[in-house]
Amino acid sequence: MSDQVLPSTLISNFDEQYYLKLPQIFYKSAKTYLDNKEIKKIQKAYTFAFYSHDGQQRRDGSKYITHPVEVAQILLDLRMDPDTICAALMHDVLEDCDVNKNNLVKLFGEDVAEIVDGVSKLGKLDINARIDADANNLQKMMLAMSKDVRVVLVKICDRLHNMRTIEHLPRSKQIKKSKETIDLYGPLALRIGMQDIRSELEDLAFRCIHPLRASMLESAIKKSSGGRKRIVTKIRKELKKHLKANNIQKVSVKGREKNIYSIYRKIKSKHKPFSEILDVYGFRILVDSIDDCYRALGIIHNYFSPIENRFKDYIAIPKSNGYQALHTSLLALNAFPIEVQIQTRSMSEIASFGIAAHWQYKTKDSDDNSELRATRWLSGLVDLQKKTRSPKEFAQSVKTDLDSNEVFLFSPKGDVYALRRGSTPIDFAYEVHTDLGDSIVGCKVNRSEVPLNIELETGQTVEVITSNTKSDVDPSWLNYVVTSKARSAIRSKLRKQKTSDARKAGKIMLETELKRGGKSLKEYRGGALKKILDSIGVTSLNKLLTDLGLGKRTGSIIAERFYSGLQIREGIEEPKPVLIVDNKIESVTVRFAKCCLPVHGDRVVAHSDTERGMVIHHKKCKQVAPFIKKDARYMPAIWGENKNDHVYKVNIDVNTKDKVGVLSDLGSVFARSGINIGSVNTKTIDKKFAGFKIEIEVEDKQELRAIMQKVRAQKFTTSCKRNINEK
Ligand code: MN
Repeated sequence: MSDQVLPSTLISNFDEQYYLKLPQIFYKSAKTYLDNKEIKKIQKAYTFAFYSHDGQQRRDGSKYITHPVEVAQILLDLRMDPDTICAALMHDVLEDCDVNKNNLVKLFGEDVAEIVDGVSKLGKLDINARIDADANNLQKMMLAMSKDVRVVLVKICDRLHNMRTIEHLPRSKQIKKSKETIDLYGPLALRIGMQDIRSELEDLAFRCIHPLRASMLESAIKKSSGGRKRIVTKIRKELKKHLKANNIQKVSVKGREKNIYSIYRKIKSKHKPFSEILDVYGFRILVDSIDDCYRALGIIHNYFSPIENRFKDYIAIPKSNGYQALHTSLLALNAFPIEVQIQTRSMSEIASFGIAAHWQYKTKDSDDNSELRATRWLSGLVDLQKKTRSPKEFAQSVKTDLDSNEVFLFSPKGDVYALRRGSTPIDFAYEVHTDLGDSIVGCKVNRSEVPLNIELETGQTVEVITSNTKSDVDPSWLNYVVTSKARSAIRSKLRKQKTSDARKAGKIMLETELKRGGKSLKEYRGGALKKILDSIGVTSLNKLLTDLGLGKRTGSIIAERFYSGLQIREGIEEPKPVLIVDNKIESVTVRFAKCCLPVHGDRVVAHSDTERGMVIHHKKCKQVAPFIKKDARYMPAIWGENKNDHVYKVNIDVNTKDKVGVLSDLGSVFARSGINIGSVNTKTIDKKFAGFKIEIEVEDKQELRAIMQKVRAQKFTTSCKRNINEK
């Protein structure tokens, strides 16, 4: 194919004979784990990227295509799947070239197109705005926006290559990019567990911002490393000798290198002199099985004296990014404080490469996989226990994991706010400032006007329109706000109204709600009205309207009572249960009480709580049980469909015989059933028994029953009960 072919011709006439040859090193790496068909696809992506960037240059004068090739090379070294490699090669084509997403879908399929599109979208975020205050929210937002975690992977590798070549940028941009890297990309890499890339990103950025400090630190490390080396070698040999003597096979002991930025950070944050920080010697012991980890721990505690309170078991309870290891601190050879991490080899791989290690494409033996899978349980971000057999399945499971319960929104100034999912412009306004909420009259999302009751989505820019003349809040807002901040602010504002104003507002609100069901307040009279008022628990209609206006009750739910009252009219005492569909009652989003954690299928009660809106409790929960029959704000509720596949948190108490590794055995019972674990609290009952309070996530009561049965069936289990906060 000649150099004159333009991308447009390419798109319509993309024949294999025109594919360009891959750069040689690149081809060699691909060849190590991909088959010919996969390499052909990568070749196609390379060709497409090559012609798309034709004529463009990097700042150092090289052809632009060298950049995406380098980015893809990093991902090849991590043995990522072919779609990620294709996307990496084309990650900048939507930005800079005459190409759109549809072209990519047609030529490379949805997955590749989505990743490229996601990377471009992240690139467009103006993340420089207020990065200090909101770095954590920004990270979460980037994850939420990415949907597919491979987007974040490509983006991080893109940043890594840009940092490696940062000397070609003007100084002011170097500083800006480096700060962003330390504040955002480093932590983001850590969040998805990529320790090695995080270290490199931080060191590159640190060297760029503080070249002098970095070189001083480096030469100090070098100077001290002579005597250091001797000690490290001695301790290393000692450790290894004892482990081998006690029959731990295939053990390796390494001295741990710290990256310079982490040393710098320690000096700054702990106000300790350099010598003291360097004087702690780090070791990593790698063994073959989890069993050996615990045995190795026992052995070294026998020979060296442990430093009190420094032991941590991240195998039984991994960190939220999936990191697993045993940590302990000891005094070696009676003189040197040492920090030891004990891991299996696959744990160490995951710690270095994070999510990419989970992705590793076509690993040869499946032996490793069982352990991999076992280590995955409870990894907070990437819930991998859904037995990921192929990258595709994995992508699917990661997609749902990145779906957070929060939405991330921009103010016009670029501040980022995290709000509960389901939030409306009113929630947003109150989140920013109470005054802003009180005076909101309209709202623009991404510059076009929207109604105040729409659900906001991650990534949107929300501009609140206010009016100086308006002073009243609308009680009907209580029907659709979801944050407690907005709810209590609205209520406190409503309470300050005159009673007559409140009554008027309440009447308008109820009429509006009734009108939606084709009814009017006039249709309710005499005995029928009395019955409805009784069932609600108020003495008069005026009182009810005032309550509504003051925000003490929720309009749509009262309207529901009126509808059912009209249908029944006579003779029925029991109030009609409210229906929970898709976690809403009428249009009001409900909350699930934290005290009893009800799940779909439980017998439940809806509590119209003045502060928090509709809260669903288990019928036996001691918070509500005494009031059910007495107070009309407690209504029986029944479950409708759960269309959004909402998962429900529930607490279970498990008692077991106490033995080494019992928590990890217990964990694998949940992992095998694909049940996610939220948190674990351990209490030792006595020498022989241990108790765990475990929060798990289930779809419904049936799934809960099944998993509890499995737990009970374990030999080590002595009891397993659900905790619903009963009396
Ligand atoms: Mn790029």
